Amino acid sequence: MAKLSLRSRLFISHLAVMGVGILTLVVIGRLYSPRLFIISLQRYENGVMSVQQRTQLVRGFEAAWSRGMGWAILVGGGTAGWLSYWVSRRIISPLDQMTEITRQFAAGQLSARVPPSEILELQRLANSFNRMAADLEGVEQRRRELVSDLTHELRTPLTIIHGYLEGLSDGTIAPHPELYERLAVETTRLQRLVNDLQELSKLEAGYLPIQAQNIALEPLVAALVRAFDDQFTNPDRVQVALHCPPDLPLAYADPSRVEQILINLLGNALQYTDKGTVTVKLWAEAQRVYASVADTGIGIAEADLPYVFERFWRADRSRNRRSGGTGLGLTICRRLVEVQGGEIAVKSQINLGSEFTFWLPQAQAS
Ligand code: ADP
Repeated sequence: MAKLSLRSRLFISHLAVMGVGILTLVVIGRLYSPRLFIISLQRYENGVMSVQQRTQLVRGFEAAWSRGMGWAILVGGGTAGWLSYWVSRRIISPLDQMTEITRQFAAGQLSARVPPSEILELQRLANSFNRMAADLEGVEQRRRELVSDLTHELRTPLTIIHGYLEGLSDGTIAPHPELYERLAVETTRLQRLVNDLQELSKLEAGYLPIQAQNIALEPLVAALVRAFDDQFTNPDRVQVALHCPPDLPLAYADPSRVEQILINLLGNALQYTDKGTVTVKLWAEAQRVYASVADTGIGIAEADLPYVFERFWRADRSRNRRSGGTGLGLTICRRLVEVQGGEIAVKSQINLGSEFTFWLPQAQAS
């Protein structure tokens, strides 16, 4: 069976309702009106009228009734038909508009939005569509930014590797251990970049499993601080200290993810601090367990602070690139904190030091 459009269906249903109304009116009017007329006539004329006169009168009544009914059907039916056409159009045209806008959207015009409608249900539909469109536009925007950032990040190491390999193959560069070391550094950087990106994309897509449980942060952080202090610091230059109250409540978090966050923050603090101390503090406040990593290093300029957690952001791109940083560590930290229900913030002063503070939910007493 051929599919009818909603507009035709609405129009036909209005016409059907009108048709039934008119039919009922005509049939009942046709059956009852002449009979009622005769009964009334008999009651008032008291036998003074001849049969012929009465027949004529009834016929005249019937003719007048039919003509009146004809006009009524014509005018009423016409008006109702026009009205039903108008109503169907008013309901359908926003839907047609929506179809057109979704088509434009699918064709890549991501700024297309459905205009407001006076019909409540259609307005709701338009609102949900517009919300979805805004989300998709944001996703697309981020995808474009990521591709452009990534191209930029990959270009430098690839150009360096390519240049060296070309020089080696045509003999313009003599092979020596330092050169191979340089090539290894660049490939390690690429490897780190790919690993960090994979981690971040899993986090952003919500695929990274978080196994939250009630954990005591102090032993976990103390072990990390000890490891960093033993392996990465020169006691004459930088010392790592931990401050924790004895009655710190448990946090509700995934221990391996908390470790990952702290390794990143401690690694950064030590990398950007030449002399002084790196202090890790733990405390609890308002159903939250806080951790902060403060250093006395180079600090971050105030104007740069809003960008610190952004993907690929580095205070000094070329210098940090050489040191092997991907600019993804803090972005991953922020996502890791957020997926566990917490927040992370930074305070810093150039040449004085930086302090990264994050909180995680406190474990609920069971
Ligand atoms: P990277 O891998 O480059 O360290 P991050 O996302 O961890 O990437 O850090 C981004 C940038 O933030 C770093 O390149 C550095 O410029 C700045 N930064 C991070 N931590 C500190 C810190 N403790 N002190 C000064 N600058 C920092």
